[in-house]
Formats: sequence, C-alpha cells, structure tokens
Amino acid sequence: MGIIHVLSRETSRLIAAGEVIDRPASALRELLDNALDAGASDISVLTEKGGIDLLRVIDNGSGMDRDDLALSIQEHATSKILKADDLLSVRTMGFRGEALASIAAVARLEITSCEKNSEIGWKLQSEPGKPPVLTPVAARQGTVVTVQGIFEQYPARRQFLKKPSAEALLCRQVFTERALAHPHIQFSWSSGAETSRYPAGSLLQRMSLLYPELPAHLLSEVEIKFETAAFHLILAEPSFHRNDRRYLQVFVNRRKVPEWGLMSVVEYAYSEYLPGGMKPCAFLFADIEPSLADFNIHPAKREVRIKTIESLKSLLYSSLKEQLHTLYGSGSMNMAEYSPAAGLAFETVPPSQKLDQSFWETVRTLNETPIKESDSSAFGTAGYAGERPTFRYIGRAFGPYLLFSIDDTLFILDQHAAHERILYDSLLERPVSSQALLVPYIFEPESDDMKNRLASILPEMKNFGFEIEKQHDAFIIHAVPALLGEKAIPAFLDFVQKPPENSRVSGIVATMACRAAIKDGDVLDDFSARELIAKSLQLPFPRCPHGRPIWIRLDRDYLDKMSGRNPG
Ligand code: ADP
Ligand code: MG
Repeated sequence: MGIIHVLSRETSRLIAAGEVIDRPASALRELLDNALDAGASDISVLTEKGGIDLLRVIDNGSGMDRDDLALSIQEHATSKILKADDLLSVRTMGFRGEALASIAAVARLEITSCEKNSEIGWKLQSEPGKPPVLTPVAARQGTVVTVQGIFEQYPARRQFLKKPSAEALLCRQVFTERALAHPHIQFSWSSGAETSRYPAGSLLQRMSLLYPELPAHLLSEVEIKFETAAFHLILAEPSFHRNDRRYLQVFVNRRKVPEWGLMSVVEYAYSEYLPGGMKPCAFLFADIEPSLADFNIHPAKREVRIKTIESLKSLLYSSLKEQLHTLYGSGSMNMAEYSPAAGLAFETVPPSQKLDQSFWETVRTLNETPIKESDSSAFGTAGYAGERPTFRYIGRAFGPYLLFSIDDTLFILDQHAAHERILYDSLLERPVSSQALLVPYIFEPESDDMKNRLASILPEMKNFGFEIEKQHDAFIIHAVPALLGEKAIPAFLDFVQKPPENSRVSGIVATMACRAAIKDGDVLDDFSARELIAKSLQLPFPRCPHGRPIWIRLDRDYLDKMSGRNPG
C-alpha cells in the first residue's frame, strides 16, 4: 500500500486555511470580530454541541449588499484594508480577508445580510467544494452567519476536535474575552438550555456578570493615560490573590494577548503587597496607537508587538505603583512581618549596581577553577529549602549571571543552570500537569528504529505530561507538560533524535529541562530574575542536573581575604 501521495489543491488550500480555523472556537472568534467591525451594538451567539454541529452569530451591524456578500467568502476579500501600508495602522479586528473563505472551505456556511434602509436582504449558502448560491430574502438590518458541520467532510481534521463539552468551553472563553473587551455592546450567549444576556454597561458591570466569582466590593477601576497609550485597569485588593494567573489578564486594543512585559509590570507593582509566588487579580486594558501595535504576527492575532514597549512599561510601572499606594497604602509587607506560610518576599529594589572590572576578573578566575565537592565556601551544595532568607537582587552580569546577596554573602547565580534544575525537579514531581495543544503536533519518525523506541517510551512520556497517540506510522502529540508549554515540542524532538546515554527516565527529563530552560543570552527582567532567585533558594540540591553548581558563593570574609584587607 503506497502511503505517499500528492495532495489535491483543495486539500493544500485547506491546510493553509486551517492555520486560522482549526476548531469551532476559532470560527467564533472570527465571526465575533466581523460583527464588531460591522459596528454592531447588539451581538448574539448560539452554539450547539460546542459549535461542532452549529455556530451562529447574529449582529445588527452595517450588513452587506448582494455584491459584497458574494465577495465576502472569496479568499483575501476584505473591506478593511486596501494596500499593504494600511496594515501599519489597522483599527479593525479583521484585515486579512481570509476568515470567511477559510470557514467556507471547511463547513457549511449560510450568511443572511441586509444593509440599513434596504428593502431586501440576501442569503448566501455555501458548501465546501460547491459554488455558493445567493437568494433574496426578507431580513432585518445586520448579518446572521451560521456555520454547520465543521470538518464534516474532513474526518482527519474532525478527529482533532475535542469532546463537545470541551469545545463548548473554548467557545465560551472566546465569547468572554470579546464581551469583556466591549462592555458598551450588548451580548447574548446561548448554548443548549443556557441563555445569558449581557446588557451594555460599564466595564465593572460587565466584569461582575462574566466573572461572578470575583468579589465586586474588592475591585477598583483605574485609568492611566499617556500620549500614545491609555490604560484602563480593574484592580482587586491584594488580599484577593491566587497562585496562578487566571485573573491576571492583558488586553491590547481589545484583544486578549499574552503580553508578558505588561503582565510582569502589574505583577511587579503588586509584589510588595503579596506573599511570594502569589499573583494579583488585575485586568489591564491597553489602548495603544494602532501604528505602534502590530498584530500581523500570529495567524489568529494572538500576539502583538508593541513598538515602544520598554518606555510604556516604565511609565506604567510608576503610575500603577502610585495608584496602588493610593488604594492600598504603602505595602510594607516585607517578609519579617509576614506570616511564615508566605514563602519568600523581596527587599525593595535598589537600582542595579555596577561592579568594577577587577572584581569581575576575580570572579571569572574563580569560575574557571575546577569545582571540588568539598569546597563548600564557594560552591555550597546546601540550599535554603525550608528557610526564607531575605535576598537583595543586585543585577545582571555578562548575560548569564544574576547577582544577589544574603546578609554578608554574595551569590552569583547561573540563570540557565538554575532554571534547568527547577524545571527538572518539577518534572520529576508527580503528577505533572499537562496542557492540551490547540493544534495537535504530528510527528512522523524517520526510521523504524526511532519509531520503535518512541513507541516503547510512550507510557513514560505520559508520566511527564505528554499525551501522545500512535496512529499508524505517525505520533500525534495532543498535550505537553504545562510547565514547558510550547517549548516541549523542540525538547521532545531533541530527545527522540538524540537519546541520552544515561538512564531513560532522568534522560528524558534532563533533555527536556535543558532544552526548555532560559538560555545564557536571555535577558530576564528584574521581576523574573527575582522570581528565579527565590525559586533557586528553595532548591534542595542547588546543582544543575549535570552536576554543575548553580551559584558561586563569596562571603565577606573570603572577599576581605582576597583583597588583602584581612590577611590570614
Ligand atoms: P476580514 O474581516 O479580514 O476583512 P473576513 O473574511 O472575516 O475578512 O470578512 C470579509 C469581508 O466580509 C469583511 O471585510 C467585511 O466587509 C464583510 N463582512 C464579514 N462579516 C460581516 C458582518 N458580520 N457584517 C458586515 N460585513 C461583514
Ligand atoms: Mg474578519
């Protein structure tokens, strides 16, 4: 049986389209964006079986006339940009003109649309592989888009869909994100027997309807404006915190994005009020001049590149700090006063200090001297697990080193080695939580050898959070260790291609930890640096999985001796 064949045009088209539409939730995201772009003030969503059977978005926006409707499902047909330059200043949610074409390629699509003051509306019906049909209908102003039987004709794609209940959750998540970002628009949601309405109102009102679990009396609304950006924040009192980032969300120009820079500013501003490791509850809505925020990076616009991010971060940090002081007083929650369960806290940060060159020469020489297990003064094997020392972060050196001190001891931490160890230890801890991939990764081993080896370690991979399914000659990765996130795939490939010599289990873990750890050249912001140091201090065995020490320790006596202050 020949397994290699050339894909038909339809199929290859589907693959490109699939980048955007991979499940009902992504179709819903595009339809909601279109309704928003059409200027609707009322948007309703209906899903059946998690959107797999049916997905409908009804809006009262501009509508389309017959010719526009016919064009709307053509590839690269858009009313939102004219020329490439327009991409630099997009104000709409959509701009690629691909969404409706992509949906039409994988599902039955029906669009009924009617323009304002028009006597008649038009209905377009399309099915993959067939020419669309247009008929005149009586309709109200606006557009109704119905998507049915997604991937029905593509069983290979359909099998990657999750259970309807899980798809329903993803759809709901998309809805929540859009409804939260547009409180002045009325939204309704219905799926199965559940129907909810979200009347137009303020951001706080919308938030308490969408997240009823958030205690409204602990929330405050704050606005911070700069020349090129305005920030609207919903801040929760620090007593309401969590150990994850579920309620730490960043929206840029009304899209929810993982903008770590802005997120870390919020975390950092809150850190003086929170016990170590805890995350605040804070929603940040940034409105940034469109020419400074580029969304044309990710097919689903899930990422943004902000041109002036560094200066925005520092402006935001100082204003937010002030706001927090006004709201909650100065947070003198330093560790000495805080409850012992709190874990680590940080001293207030002095600006990074510069150390002179000769000092670095000494450190360099020291770093090059071979490590003796017994030399515990400089390369202590004992960590601070169980203790909660206050450390003072001094700054970064050469790239890979972080400097900090505890009392009279100076530490030089190797950021890669430390992170590697932290990941390694967490991966060995059971159970390892896993994270489902939005689009499963398909891996086809190059040789039978590799295939057999991989098949034999599948059960072990499961222990580390991988969910891998073998299908004929391919392996489909459905989920990865949450800890590694997307870095798990290259780590996995590394591992199957270059299996380590040592014992299997720790080999898998060591390869993954090494691959996923921050690299020497990665520049950590102050907040992350502190977090890494805090976690490193908690390591029971502060050496990297290969045995190198993660830090060099220089105590005051030793430095005095080296500099001739205190001979003998
Ligand atoms: P894009 O949004 O990137 O332009 P789409 O494929 O999503 O591409 O939509 C194509 C075009 O169809 C849009 O540019 C818009 O003119 C029109 N359109 C789509 N949905 C609607 C809607 N709900 N109301 C009015 N016009 C719409
Ligand atoms: Mg669109």
